[in-house]
Amino acid sequence: MQLDIVIPCFNEEEVIKEIHLRVKKILEEIKGKKLIDGYNIIFVDDGSNDGTFRILEKFSQKDQSVKALSLSRNFGHQAALSAGLRFSKGDAVISMDADLQDPPELIETMLERFNEGFEIVYGVRGDREQDTFFKRTSATCFYKLMLWFGVQIIPHHAEFRLVSRQVLEAFNQYGEVNIFIRGIFPFIGFKSCKIAYKRDPRFAGKTKYPLKAMLKFGFEGITSFSVVPLRIASVVGAFVCFISLLASALGFLTYLIGNTIPGWTSTVLPIYFLGGVQLIFLGLLGEYIGKIFLEVKKRPLYIVRKVLSANNKNNKNFFDLN
Ligand code: UDP
Ligand code: MG
Repeated sequence: MQLDIVIPCFNEEEVIKEIHLRVKKILEEIKGKKLIDGYNIIFVDDGSNDGTFRILEKFSQKDQSVKALSLSRNFGHQAALSAGLRFSKGDAVISMDADLQDPPELIETMLERFNEGFEIVYGVRGDREQDTFFKRTSATCFYKLMLWFGVQIIPHHAEFRLVSRQVLEAFNQYGEVNIFIRGIFPFIGFKSCKIAYKRDPRFAGKTKYPLKAMLKFGFEGITSFSVVPLRIASVVGAFVCFISLLASALGFLTYLIGNTIPGWTSTVLPIYFLGGVQLIFLGLLGEYIGKIFLEVKKRPLYIVRKVLSANNKNNKNFFDLN
């Protein structure tokens, strides 16, 4: 039984040493207990512009179990994670963030669940006490909205999860460019379970998800899995039509009685309002068309510049190694 750990890193020079140390310690313990035969720690350097690559280069030469993919530029968290998952050949793979917010000590519990027959083990945040009030409330609203839009998402689960080889093979069949990984796994199915954990604060460095990136990511999640927003356009349209029919009937009635409606306001305001509503939905339609545009081009999700591994001294590329 081979276990792989996939860790995407973008400008994480301050945390790599620590995460390597803690993950390695746990994996050695698990190996000692004969729960696994071997393991790889697969780091993905997502085009970092700090010392991340140099540190990974050193680690991959010193430690046989460290493999590192260096991407040609910053492709984003989801692409970097996909690269690591696709590279893995393990019987089970655990993905986790580099900043130690996902406690490596849970790896053993995840493995126990896997051995009980669960093909996907989701790490779910037990509480969000560490978060600011804003992040806590916005996250809860986001998950509610996602579920309402019909997206099968596990609330308060990020990317800390174990998946079996079979699930990973299924995941690898998803060739979409607009990728929202945490939405794909529940969609794949298989027997799954959740384990609750307390998410620690970031060990060092800064978050790579400021508010703007978080909103973009949330919007990506909804539009990648749900067409309900488009349907809302039809519902709003039908509602506005109904109201305007009533208003027309009222106008006609007052005309028959002999009072014409004098108002400028009642004429001009709906024009502005409906103009706004139309533009919003036109924009929304544009978002989906934009996605189709990106999907049909089938551009690669990421490009691997280098594969670092102690037994890859000749610097073979990604494709030769796979
Ligand atoms: N990350 C990445 N590429 C990016 C942004 C982030 O590989 O473009 C990695 C980052 O190094 C970390 C994980 O994705 O391992 C999650 O990022 P972060 O911890 O900053 O997000 P937060 O926990 O603040 O939501
Ligand atoms: Mg983090």
